[in-house]
Amino acid sequence: MKKDFYVDERGYYGEFGGAFVPAPLEKNVEELRACYREIIDSEAFQTEYRALLKNYVGRPSPLYLSPSLSEKCGCKIFLKREDLNHTGAHKINNTIGQILLAKHMGKKRIIAETGAGQHGVATATVCALFGFPCTIYMGAVDMERQHLNVEKMRLLGATVVPATSGEQTLQDAVNEALMEWCAAPEETFYLLGSAVGPHPYPDLVSRLQAIISEEIQMQIPVVAGVEKPTHLVACVGGGSNAAGTFFHFLSDEDVKITIAEASGKGLETGATAATLTLGKEGVLHGSKSLMMQDEKGDPLPPYSISAGLDYPGVGPLHATLVKTGRADVVTVTDDEALTAAYELNRKEGILPAIESAHTIASLSKIKFAPTDVVVATLSGRGDKDIDTYLHHAKRLGY
Ligand SMILES: *Cc1c(COP(=O)(O)O)cnc(C)c1O
Repeated sequence: MKKDFYVDERGYYGEFGGAFVPAPLEKNVEELRACYREIIDSEAFQTEYRALLKNYVGRPSPLYLSPSLSEKCGCKIFLKREDLNHTGAHKINNTIGQILLAKHMGKKRIIAETGAGQHGVATATVCALFGFPCTIYMGAVDMERQHLNVEKMRLLGATVVPATSGEQTLQDAVNEALMEWCAAPEETFYLLGSAVGPHPYPDLVSRLQAIISEEIQMQIPVVAGVEKPTHLVACVGGGSNAAGTFFHFLSDEDVKITIAEASGKGLETGATAATLTLGKEGVLHGSKSLMMQDEKGDPLPPYSISAGLDYPGVGPLHATLVKTGRADVVTVTDDEALTAAYELNRKEGILPAIESAHTIASLSKIKFAPTDVVVATLSGRGDKDIDTYLHHAKRLGY
C-alpha cells in the first residue's frame, strides 16, 4: 500500500487523480504543470507569499483551546482559527498563492468559477490587490441565491458572468470558465478554488493551503506541550481546507485523520453530499475521483444546507486517503451542523461558517481517549450564513 500521499509525476495519488482535459485545454494545463513547483518553491515566491499571509491575511491563525468542546469530548480540542483570516475563511491562502503564481508566469488576467461565491470573493479580493482584471463565472441560479457575494465581487471590480446552461449552478460555471480558458489561453490564468480539477491543481491548492498544517506543527508544542496532535479533523467540500490541515502529517500514521462530510437531509434520503461515503469512481472536472452518480453513471446533483460542501465530487487526495484507510469519514446532517453552530456560538461566542459547523458536529461522533490532543479546523466564520441560522433557530430551540 502507498505510504506517502503526495502526487506522482502524472498527477496521481494512488489510483485517483490525473489530468483528463479536452485537447484544446491540454496546452494550458501543461504550461502550468511544467512550472508550478519551480515557482512556488522559489525563494522569491515564498518571500512574497509569506509576507502577504502575515501582513494582509493576518497569519498565523490562532490555535485555540475550546473549553466547551474539550469538556464535551473528554480531551483537548483545539480549533485552528481560519475564520479569523481576512475575508473570513481559508480560501484566501490559496487565492494569494495563485495570483502570485500568475504574476510570476507573466499572466495578465484572471478567470475563476464560483459556486456559493466564497471563492469568487477571495479571487476578486486578490485581483483588486494586484490590479488584475478578473472575470468570475457563476451559475445564474447561484447568482440569485448568493446575491450579496455577487455585489461584493462587483464592488471589488470583478465582472460576474452568469452561466446559463444546464442547472445553472457550479457545474455549469466550471464548464463555461474552462471554455473561456480555451478561447483566451495565452494571457489568462485560471484560478481554481479547491483541491480538485486536473493535475496540477489538486497538488497546487494543497501546497498553498499547507500553511495550515505547517503552523499546527509549530503551534501545538507551545499550546499543548506535545510534539504533535493525535487527531486532525476537517470538513470536505472539494477538499482544500482539509488538504491544508493534513498536508505535513500525511505520512505520519501516529496522527489520525478524520474527514467530516455533509450528509444533507440524511444518507438514505437522496438529498446528500456524502461523496466519500456514497460516491463511485468516475471522472469529474478533469480528474479521476469519487462522485455522486446514479446506476447508469450519470452525475447526481448533490445537496447540503452548506453551499461550500454542496459539490458532486471530492479531491483525488481525499478519495485516496479514504480508500487506503488512512482517513476515516464521519457524516453530518444539516440539523447536526446547525445545532453545533448554535451551541458553539452560545458557549464561546464563535459563530462558525455552516461548512465548519460540520467539522464541529463530527467531533462528538469520534471516540477519543482523555489524553488525546485534537486539532479541528474552523475553516470560516458564519456571517455569510446568518440568514440560514436565523431561519432554523426557532425549530432547533435557539
Ligand atoms: C469553500 C469552503 C469550504 C469547502 O471547501 P474546501 O475546498 O473543501 O475546503 C469549507 N469551509 C468554508 C468556510 C468554505 O468557505
